[in-house]
Amino acid sequence: MAYYVEDQLAGPAIGPRRPSINEYFLSSYTMAIYDGCEFGCPYCDGWAVRLRPLNEVVRVPVDLPERVTDELGGLDRGDLVGITAFTDPYQPAEQSYRLTRQVLRAFAERGQPVLILTKSPVVLEDLATLERLHSASLAMVMFTLLTTDPHLAEKLEDRAPAPALRLDAIAALKRAGIPVGVAIVPLLPYVNDTDLLINTTLHAVADAGADFVVWDHLLIPDERHRSRINEMLARIGRYPPSYYRDLYHGRTLPDLTYRNERNQALLERCDALNLPVRAPHALYTGRLRPQNEASLLLKHTAFRDSVQGRANLARQGRELADRVYRNEATDIQLRASPLYETLRDILQRATRSGQQKP
Ligand code: SF4
Repeated sequence: MAYYVEDQLAGPAIGPRRPSINEYFLSSYTMAIYDGCEFGCPYCDGWAVRLRPLNEVVRVPVDLPERVTDELGGLDRGDLVGITAFTDPYQPAEQSYRLTRQVLRAFAERGQPVLILTKSPVVLEDLATLERLHSASLAMVMFTLLTTDPHLAEKLEDRAPAPALRLDAIAALKRAGIPVGVAIVPLLPYVNDTDLLINTTLHAVADAGADFVVWDHLLIPDERHRSRINEMLARIGRYPPSYYRDLYHGRTLPDLTYRNERNQALLERCDALNLPVRAPHALYTGRLRPQNEASLLLKHTAFRDSVQGRANLARQGRELADRVYRNEATDIQLRASPLYETLRDILQRATRSGQQKP
């Protein structure tokens, strides 16, 4: 069990508005509930951004709900806040402190769109609040799921809830009408990225009724993290660190050829299962600022373009997405996009509501 330290927030509860919308989590803002994560998964980026061990001390900012309530007044109601930053909002501390519950209630009170990333079915205990928020604007949940193999999961993340519990929770949220996605994050080379395991995971995700899936590759930002990953590989037993040396060449991401090949394999399998690879437009239509909606649509299309080898189109789509998000796109720039008519329809809503620049 982790040591809990009750504390006050040192800075703002919700981070600054992102310069570019987050295409995985649909978010314009990011926040964390607790500081530290008792689940302590060895591959977590959270290890790299903290001085203290991620899973031994969990700081509990008891004034967070009050601070969130104050800060929400300064946010546009069409901007989504992602509770996604380096710590699970439903880790064991939530059973004692219920900070996530109080924060969600503040979001529901205001109708502020939110996305929660978790590994825990405890999110279901807040289902009524999620339903209330979703009927007012948008409440979405994403489960991180690396594998459905319980033995592998035990070696990778023994303190996190079992994959089967997460799949059951996905099905329950889906039945309740809450949009739910799955993040296969990270994709660990030679561990959960094989064709067989990807197939098994995606089938289970589709069977549970998830609306969409995203994935990303393992980041190794520094030598400390590299040695933690090597220890994890030794624990799993079949994957010598030399495999990773050859794939990473001392860099933070695996080499481009590997990433392209795995991205294509995942995309093909998702398409075969009719499982969207980013949140489908229908899930957020009319629930976000029109500029955010259009920007996400462009980014999600650009992702598919880049995986399928249309690099220029992907680059143009991403550049336009950022301009649209900042409300700086001209009609000439919009007309150059294959999505022009859809973008125009979405952005006309902004004009009608007087949000777009004159
Ligand atoms: S549950 Fe998520 S935030 Fe917590 S340690 Fe694992 S990966 Fe990191």
